[in-house]
Amino acid sequence: MTDFSATKALFTLPEGMIYLDGNSLGPLPRATAARVAQTVTEEWGKMLITGWNKAGWMDKPMHVGDRIARLIGAEAGHVVMGDTLSIKVYQALAACLDLNPKRRVILSDTGNFPSDLYMAEGLCRTLGQGYELKTVAPEAVLDAIDDTVAVTMITEVDYRTGRRHNMAEITARAHAHGALTIWDLAHSAGAFQVELAACGADFAVGCSYKYLNSGPGGPAFIYVSPRHADHALPALSGWQGHAAPFAFDLDYRPATGAERLRVGTPPILQLAALEASLDIWDRVDMQDLRIASLALTDRYIAGIEASCPSLILATPRDHAMRGSQVSFRHPEGYAIMQAMIARGVIGDFRAPDIIRCGFTPLFIDETDVDHAVAIIADIMQNSLWDRPDYKTRAKVT
Ligand SMILES: *Cc1c(COP(=O)(O)O)cnc(C)c1O
Repeated sequence: MTDFSATKALFTLPEGMIYLDGNSLGPLPRATAARVAQTVTEEWGKMLITGWNKAGWMDKPMHVGDRIARLIGAEAGHVVMGDTLSIKVYQALAACLDLNPKRRVILSDTGNFPSDLYMAEGLCRTLGQGYELKTVAPEAVLDAIDDTVAVTMITEVDYRTGRRHNMAEITARAHAHGALTIWDLAHSAGAFQVELAACGADFAVGCSYKYLNSGPGGPAFIYVSPRHADHALPALSGWQGHAAPFAFDLDYRPATGAERLRVGTPPILQLAALEASLDIWDRVDMQDLRIASLALTDRYIAGIEASCPSLILATPRDHAMRGSQVSFRHPEGYAIMQAMIARGVIGDFRAPDIIRCGFTPLFIDETDVDHAVAIIADIMQNSLWDRPDYKTRAKVT
């Protein structure tokens, strides 16, 4: 059994704060500062350029990718770190369109995170030739997969509602219709065990600064199935994805496997921060995590519904359709979230009316949930959110 009180002790959390936003920016592990400092002083400071060999910097994107592979059910050697999630979405899309050249449709859903949709639109504009992005309601994705679809681009867990798609079912239908699949795991990696290989996923992408706690701006990851790894042609053909970067050839020759999805110089300091967090993840059994996560989200839903009738649940009750976050709707959701934050319950607001809270057993327990529910009940029952200063929107919500 994973000891979640032990993992909680491995994070730095401000006194009195109940942090329900690890799904947006994971908290700081206690070991991170020293790990980054060591990389700075002992590696960068003393080794300088030789660190690329001596400290193994060059291999970090693949080594760290392998540690994430366990959490997402990927084959070793098929996950690589780098860039941001938006960039990795673009890369995966371009590769899939190239692998499925007779088709013109990218299928996604209207619940997807805008950046994924923007990247797809941008790629279609660049390619021309009739490429188009088609979006349908999340519930309609399965039926919308037909023989025109080149690739499905689906975020497994909806960032707003926390609704979870059925990866196995959608992937099987896509393949039956000759389409490829890209899974965005932004709200899945570290939320529950993902089974990319078992589901037959073609590509997957995700970020490390949410549930995986690598810190603001931590690198993204990309997965390519072994079926495609040596055929996918990177549209972003940077030198670090070259078969021999230090041959400095004038022509691009992709590396074998997932390594070809590297673009430029990897962020070594952020990777060091991520490694400190992955040391915690190494102690976590993903089945234990899921059981604990569902218990927390069930408890929060029951507590809020019992005390705050004006908050409307936006997250599915069905466990199979739920990630590790819970969202409630309210027209004054922004002001309510500001009132929560003022009382030390940190979640976030997602337009137009979503009060979103993420629950991760790594550092949130049942006592935290009960405290958060009591504070939210007080805010709702006494209209403590109804203040002008809570209604002025900040740049980041
Ligand atoms: C968080 C998130 C992003 C953010 O992309 P970045 O390039 O890392 O800023 C993209 N897509 C989804 C689905 C997300 O949840």
